[in-house]
Amino acid sequence: MNNIPFNKPHMTGRELWHIAQAHTNGHLAGDGMFTKKCHAWLEARTGTRKALLTHSCTAALEMAAILADIQPGDEIIMPSYTFVSTANAFVLRGGIPVFVDIRPDTLNIDETKIEAAITPRTKAIAPVHYAGEACEMDVIMGIAKRHNLLVIEDAAQAVMSTYKGKALGAIGHLGAYSFHETKNIISGEGGALLVNDERFAERAEIIREKGTNRSQFFRGQVDKYTWVDIGSSYLPGEVIAAFLWAQMEEAESITQKRLDIWQKYHQAFSSLEDAGKLRRPIIPEHCQHNAHMYYVLLESVEKRTEVIAQLKAQGVNAVFHYVPLHSAPAGKKYARTSGTMQYTDALSERLLRLPLWVGMGDAQDKVIAELHNALG
Ligand SMILES: *Cc1c(COP(=O)(O)O)cnc(C)c1O
Repeated sequence: MNNIPFNKPHMTGRELWHIAQAHTNGHLAGDGMFTKKCHAWLEARTGTRKALLTHSCTAALEMAAILADIQPGDEIIMPSYTFVSTANAFVLRGGIPVFVDIRPDTLNIDETKIEAAITPRTKAIAPVHYAGEACEMDVIMGIAKRHNLLVIEDAAQAVMSTYKGKALGAIGHLGAYSFHETKNIISGEGGALLVNDERFAERAEIIREKGTNRSQFFRGQVDKYTWVDIGSSYLPGEVIAAFLWAQMEEAESITQKRLDIWQKYHQAFSSLEDAGKLRRPIIPEHCQHNAHMYYVLLESVEKRTEVIAQLKAQGVNAVFHYVPLHSAPAGKKYARTSGTMQYTDALSERLLRLPLWVGMGDAQDKVIAELHNALG
């Protein structure tokens, strides 16, 4: 059988149709008809006060760091087991990421270790919903309230996931989504900032429009627009938004298809878990995930290296994930840890991600059979 890629971007079939319409409309800069449709969809779907499309989740996190008014020396509590952008967005403002260990069950930040990491310089907590599985948000919001901190959710992987019925990304003060082609709902590169706290709504628009009040001008609220704050160009053009709109139209069915694939893996590996060969993901009952990823935890890093090679030889591309940020060169330079990184170190070495994409069909049976072979 042919090579089975780790990821294959899924097209709904309407992307080019919408792009053609953007072309016909003749509005190609940002904030046209398709961007507005995407904003309205995100607001209705998540309950956020204001959704703003950005070039990427990275851009949305950078906007969040500006909105949080991060000053040099301010500290932001986050997991080390995450993508670089969670940390970089704050480091760019002079902030210091403070890493807290993850929970062994969900691989999300261990909420019971957050309070010990708080200092007089702490400004925000940035929980990351790994694999689209929710962090323990009630506890995190409670800590933030007691210590007067902001919560900025890195919900890059969590579009369509919920915690106790609430959309991830829409629970903290600010939330960031990614529409990168490796995520569930895609536009190549793309993202969104969810402004959940009304206090940030006006400034978020200004920061996104190069520090000008242009959005207010277009709404007729001011009679000319001018430079009023710091900012950059964070809004995508209409071609990207048109593509994204085709994906949003199908978001329910894309998520359902991914959940079916996820569930099939989960059942297929239950016997391997019983035999002590691997550990499957653990999903808390009050969390609905979006099947962003299917991973298994193997017994050791040596075993993982061996399994990756064996699968590769059979044409199955399974991959590991993050090198924890505290052990990366820039992490050592710009960030610090709070407490041990016991589970971060141990679990990141054992984690293996399997191919998961809409339309994989029979290829999934092959992945299942090959992992059984490799561990049998
Ligand atoms: C993908 C990802 C990002 C970055 O998203 P971009 O849209 O590529 O900028 C940030 N954080 C996490 C946890 C991610 O998975």
